[in-house]
Amino acid sequence: MNFDFTERSIELQEKLKSFMEQHIYPHDRDRSQFQQENLWQHYPKMEEWKAAAKAEGLWNLFLPKGYGDLSPGLTNLEYAPLAEIMGRSRGSDEAFNCSAPDTGNMEVFAKYGTPAHQIKWLTPLMNGEIRSAFLMTEPDVASSDATNIETSIVKDEDEYVINGRKWWSSGAMNPSCKVFIVMGKTDTSAPRHSQQSMIIVPKDTPGVEIIRPLSVYSSFDSPEGHAEIKLTNVRVPASNLLLGEGRGFEIAQGRLGPGRVHHCMRLIGAAQAALDLMCKRVAEREAFGRKIKDFSSIRQHIAKSACEIEQARFLTLACADKIDKYGAKGAKNLIAMIKIVVPQMTCDVVDRAIQAHGGMGVSQDTPLASYWTYGRLVRIADGPDEVHMYQLGRNLVNEAISQ
Ligand SMILES: Cc1cc2nc3c(=O)[nH]c(=O)nc-3n(C[C@H](O)[C@H](O)[C@H](O)COP(=O)(O)OP(=O)(O)OC[C@H]3O[C@@H](n4cnc5c(N)ncnc54)[C@H](O)[C@@H]3O)c2cc1C
Repeated sequence: MNFDFTERSIELQEKLKSFMEQHIYPHDRDRSQFQQENLWQHYPKMEEWKAAAKAEGLWNLFLPKGYGDLSPGLTNLEYAPLAEIMGRSRGSDEAFNCSAPDTGNMEVFAKYGTPAHQIKWLTPLMNGEIRSAFLMTEPDVASSDATNIETSIVKDEDEYVINGRKWWSSGAMNPSCKVFIVMGKTDTSAPRHSQQSMIIVPKDTPGVEIIRPLSVYSSFDSPEGHAEIKLTNVRVPASNLLLGEGRGFEIAQGRLGPGRVHHCMRLIGAAQAALDLMCKRVAEREAFGRKIKDFSSIRQHIAKSACEIEQARFLTLACADKIDKYGAKGAKNLIAMIKIVVPQMTCDVVDRAIQAHGGMGVSQDTPLASYWTYGRLVRIADGPDEVHMYQLGRNLVNEAISQ
């Protein structure tokens, strides 16, 4: 494994750092101050930043070079440090059209969409003109096991009719969100992993009802939000079905590998930023006659945090490198490992930084609370920790006994 970044990646890292300094960081605090009256509205500067990022070639960098002309041409390993830089400011990835769930959905449209799907949905998504949501999880069933999903997708001549209830549909509250990719069952009598399909549902289709936004630790994550959605007799053309009936799991597998690297690298950026803030804060303040930085327990926390971040970074870069070389399937164990290790590491490191800040650490005066929330929610979103351990443990035993 060679972790020397290419010249192109280093050049983009420098460019992105100065973009963040110039445009994003000065507004970090205003951006997190959403009030009732501006909930579900875009931060006014977002469109300006998107135009500037596009002009500077900092656009759609997430889409790996395997996607040909659609891709700006980076490997996952080249993109990973860029995602880390974006992670220092939560939500800044939207300025570069690199935010979830659009990134995963764009990969789905690029990989499995027909030319007509691509013209209608992929092009405006890649241009940053619209946003999208991915509707898999349901309130009525344990969705960490996606074979439980109950939403029905039933063929009726040249249409499909969809009925079900979804929640945790990230991005769906966003006024710019125009399209959903919905997972449901087309054939409940088929083998367990061939019952599910994915279908494109425009958000304004009759029968789509946004029930409510869900909060994450009391924040609505505005303007994206996480919606609960009811689908009642929603009719879409049969041509909206992606790839074919019973191929939902196949699409889900293809969607998740690079997306996990993006989340993990952004979390590493958040953890690193938290440690940087901690180091500055303890060097400034004094208690019991000395700088806080000179207490042994604080030094241990700093040293431990730095070790944990670096371990997580190398693990995630190794995973990105393996995806580049062997695809998401070949890298499945490393993908599970980063998903297990990095969100927990982020929570631990950020928690130490919060403690070292005293009262300020839990307030709106630092981004620490939002970093911690991000780490904590990724321990559940994209599959809970336990599910990844369950699958990784199974893979490792199977590999050992097959030798
Ligand atoms: C902020 C946020 C954003 C999200 N965004 C989206 C989105 O955009 N689209 C979408 O479809 N979903 C989204 N999700 C949903 C997420 O993917 C699910 O919450 C997750 O898969 C778990 O499903 P569940 O909530 O039904 O929990 P359940 O399946 O009910 O599981 C509950 C708990 O059971 C335990 N458990 C489950 N399986 C095992 C096991 N094998 N071994 C041991 N313990 C186990 C775990 O502790 C788990 O947390 C999001 C969730 C959050 C919190």
